[in-house]
Amino acid sequence: MNKNFDMIVIGGGSGGLAAARRASEYGAKCAVIESGRVGGTCVNVGCVPKKVMWTTSRIAEVLHDAPDYGFSIDSQGFDWSKIKRSRDAYIARLNDIYLNNLRKADVGFIAGRASFASDSKVQVGNNVYQAPHFLIATGGEPIVPPVEGAELGITSDGFFEMERLPKKVVITGAGYIATEFAGMLHGLGSEVIMVLRKDQLLRGFDASVTAVVMDEMARSGIRFVMNNAATNLKKDGSTLTVELSDGSSISGVDEFIFAIGRKPNTAGLNLQAAGVNTDARGFIETDSYQITSNKNIYAVGDVTGRIALTPVAIAAGRKLSDRLFGGQSDAHLDYENIPSVIFSHPPIGTMGLSEAAAQAKYGESVKVYKSEFKNMYYQVTSRTSPTLMKLITVGEDEKVIGCHIVGDNADEIIQGFSVAVKMGARKCDFDNTVAIHPTASEELVTMR
Ligand code: FAD
Ligand code: NDP
Repeated sequence: MNKNFDMIVIGGGSGGLAAARRASEYGAKCAVIESGRVGGTCVNVGCVPKKVMWTTSRIAEVLHDAPDYGFSIDSQGFDWSKIKRSRDAYIARLNDIYLNNLRKADVGFIAGRASFASDSKVQVGNNVYQAPHFLIATGGEPIVPPVEGAELGITSDGFFEMERLPKKVVITGAGYIATEFAGMLHGLGSEVIMVLRKDQLLRGFDASVTAVVMDEMARSGIRFVMNNAATNLKKDGSTLTVELSDGSSISGVDEFIFAIGRKPNTAGLNLQAAGVNTDARGFIETDSYQITSNKNIYAVGDVTGRIALTPVAIAAGRKLSDRLFGGQSDAHLDYENIPSVIFSHPPIGTMGLSEAAAQAKYGESVKVYKSEFKNMYYQVTSRTSPTLMKLITVGEDEKVIGCHIVGDNADEIIQGFSVAVKMGARKCDFDNTVAIHPTASEELVTMR
């Protein structure tokens, strides 16, 4: 392979692949170096297999409700290994598709672990490659704290290797992954215990929305052990005993999952040789154009410690290539108002400022609209699940600066509304939009 390129991308995940393909559309000669499976976290051990499992557990809910809708269901149980096989096969297909797309785009693919040899060269094994532009898109990896017996636990990576549904699971952490995994496993029949170091899930998101999820999780049978921490994991025959900081313990645990955040994947990159600085937490420092402390080296995605979401890494990567090779000299990602979904049970769709953040920023000029109701779906079922929708507005013209939804289909509803919020919509613009009936989302245009 030619060893000279216009841009070399380290990391073939969401951000790296997007940047390389966009650059090659402009005629730039690019290569992607990848040490693992093409597609990165999202495809292999993140969004994609997670969404398959979330859908699986949503199906369990629908099957539960089916008799209330008049269906006789003769359930033969649930076969974890079947959905795992189909999920793995789907991901293998995606790996091939991603590789093919690189080939079609004429982007070089170099398998191996990259390390900077200087500020203009990277080394992969015995080969050295050079380019005027480098992009670091190496993502992150799960944090495992220095707890005694930590090696007996797993992280999200291990979750996707599980060959069977664990009967009893302890999850520590309070963010996206802990919340999503707890809901999925409980929905499929595991006994789930969440160990939180504080007393709340998803701190930083709108508090009324997260309270609904936490209440709903507790009501459905997930146990919360709050203001506590796992201090020791011990093997106890075929199960684990988890000792907690308050002196109590949980025994008979089949899986213990650490979901306490992720750290940047920079080990072995030899960033010093390249003159690339990191912050106190080890994330690569970038300016608003994704430029690192070396002006020819850029970084996008999770390794930068900004909003760690796939579409953010993709958008930052594409904008970078638009700027470097597409003649768009000011192209850069606006990190404000990025919508996001937490695939909890029920799901959360969120965009913009929470009520607390809006009040801290704008004080009394904030006005909040809220609607809480039971989705029509649950009017004929024994199982129920709440919906809450919230619009946060500011100023006399009531510009919408936050939109938060928790309830069925929030995951699909939020995308469309986030266009309106990004465009600067006011509450009266929502009111002037005729409702679609009967839907849950019509509440967002009829709130008073
Ligand atoms: P990655 O996709 O992690 O890619 C980095 C790549 O770099 C990896 O393939 C790695 O092997 C490679 N690499 C690392 N070091 C080197 C090296 N030295 N040389 C060569 N290659 C190297 N986001 C969402 O938007 N929606 C979701 O629903 C969602 N669910 C998630 C669920 C889980 C369980 C997890 C863990 C994450 C989830 N995310 C989700 C986050 C999302 O996966 C990440 O934000 C996204 O993958 C980041 O992309 P990236 O390009 O920065 O890094
Ligand atoms: P998060 O950053 O979302 O949450 C981790 C939380 O765990 C912290 O906020 C903290 O909450 C708690 N925590 C931190 N350290 C400890 C500790 N030592 N012991 C116990 N609890 C601790 O991390 P995740 O690992 O859940 O996910 C990583 C990122 O991946 C997310 O931030 C998100 O960007 C992305 N992701 C996105 C998804 C989506 O889009 N649907 C799904 C999954 C991941 P507190 O301070 O309150 O205790």
